[in-house]
Amino acid sequence: MKKIVILGGGFGGLYTALRLIQLNWTQQPQITIIDKNDRFVFSPLLYELITEEMQSWEVAPPYADLLANTSIQYIQDTVTDVNFNTQEVTLTNSKVTYDRLVVALGGITPDDMVKGAKEYAIPFRSLENAYILKEKLRTLENSDKEFIRVAVIGGGYSGIELTLKIADRLGKRGKIRIIDRGDDILSNSPEFNQKTAKKALLDRKIWLDLETDIVEIEENQISIEYKHKIDTIPVDIVLWTVGTKPVKIINKLSLPQTPQGKIKINSYLQVEDYPEISSMGDLVECYDQHGKILPNTAQVAFQQSDYCAWNIWATIEEKPLLPFQYQPLGEMLALGKDNATLSGLGISLNGDLAYLARRLVYLYRLPTFEHQLAVALKWITNPLSQLGNI
Ligand SMILES: Cc1cc2nc3c(=O)[nH]c(=O)nc-3n(C[C@H](O)[C@H](O)[C@H](O)COP(=O)(O)OP(=O)(O)OC[C@H]3O[C@@H](n4cnc5c(N)ncnc54)[C@H](O)[C@@H]3O)c2cc1C
Repeated sequence: MKKIVILGGGFGGLYTALRLIQLNWTQQPQITIIDKNDRFVFSPLLYELITEEMQSWEVAPPYADLLANTSIQYIQDTVTDVNFNTQEVTLTNSKVTYDRLVVALGGITPDDMVKGAKEYAIPFRSLENAYILKEKLRTLENSDKEFIRVAVIGGGYSGIELTLKIADRLGKRGKIRIIDRGDDILSNSPEFNQKTAKKALLDRKIWLDLETDIVEIEENQISIEYKHKIDTIPVDIVLWTVGTKPVKIINKLSLPQTPQGKIKINSYLQVEDYPEISSMGDLVECYDQHGKILPNTAQVAFQQSDYCAWNIWATIEEKPLLPFQYQPLGEMLALGKDNATLSGLGISLNGDLAYLARRLVYLYRLPTFEHQLAVALKWITNPLSQLGNI
C-alpha cells in the first residue's frame, strides 16, 4: 500500500487529503496528515471570533471531528526534520515513512523586523492569537479607561479587516490607527474594494498613518517615523499584520529554494528535482499561466490542493499529470460586523448583500459536508445576529 504523508493540515494540506480520498484508486493508499495543532483554522473567518459573530468550533474545527468519517489518519505532532534519501519524516515523538510527501506547512508572521515586535505586538494568524487579543480587549473593556487605543501595523487585507471588527466591538471607546509604510491601504486590492474599505474606515473615524515607518514598540507606546520625524504615541494594544514568510523549518530542509526562502516547484506542484514531493500554499513560489507570482492566499492554496491531489494520483496510477492553472475568483473583505465588499468575476458588491455572499461562499468552502451542515444549521437557527440586518 502506498503511503502519502501530508505535512501541515491547513488550506493546502487538509484539502489535498480530502480530495485524494475522492479519487478513483486501483489500490487505496494510506493517507496521513501531520499537524502540530489539533484544529484546522479557516483563517478568513478568524476575525469573526473578535466580534463573537462566530464561535471557535465553526472557524476552527478539530481534525479528529473533521476526519472521523474518513480513511485519513491524523497525527498531532511537530515536524522537526525530513530525510529525503530514506523518505522518512521525523516528528517530536516518532518517525513516519512515505512514498509521496506533501509539504504544506504554511507561513508565519515575521516578528524580527522592528525592535519590540516579538515582545509587545500581537500577530493575528492563529486561534491562540485570537484568544490573546480577545482577552486583552475584555480586560481593557472592564477597566476604567475612557478610551482604548489600538495601533494596527499593516494596511493589507488582514490589517483592515481586523481594524474594522475591533472598531465595531469597541464602538465610541475605540481609538484606532493603522500604520503603513506605503502611500495607500490595500495596495493590491481591486479599486472597488479599496474605495469601500476606505469609506468604512472613515465612517468609524479610524486614523491612517501612511508613508509611516514603525521604529520601536514598547509595552505601552510605539515610536513611528513620518518624513524623518519620530513621534512616540501611547497605545494599549499593538497588532502586527505585516505579511508572511515561510515557516522556519524550511531553512533546515534542504529543498531547492528561491532567494526569498520559498520552495521552488514545477507547474505540477512538484518540488524541483524531487518528483515524489509536492508543495503548495504560503511556502512556495508559484506562478499563474501568465508568469505572475501568486499571492499567499487561501484561494491559491485551495486551488493548488486540487491539482496536487490529482497529480499524486496520476503519478501512482500512471496517468497524465495536469499543470496548475489558477482561476482568479476575486477578493472578499469583511468590513466590520455587518458589512463586506467583494470584487471579482465581473461583480462588485458591498453592504449587506456582500456580507451575506461572503458568508455563503465561505460556508461552501468549509471542509467536509458534515461541518458545513453543522455551521449552516447554526446560522439558520440564529439568523439575525449572524447575517447582519438582512
Ligand atoms: C487572519 C488571516 C486571514 C486571512 N484571510 C484570507 C482571505 O480572506 N482569503 C484568502 O484567500 N486568504 C486569506 N488568508 C491567507 C490564508 O490563510 C493562507 O494563504 C493559507 O492558509 C495558506 O495555506 P497553507 O496550507 O500554505 O498554510 P496554512 O493554512 O497556514 O497551514 C499550515 C499548517 O501547517 C501546520 N504546521 C506548521 N508548522 C508545522 C510543523 N513544524 N509541524 C507540524 N505542523 C506544522 C500549521 O499548524 C498549519 O495547520 C488569511 C490569513 C490570515 C492569517
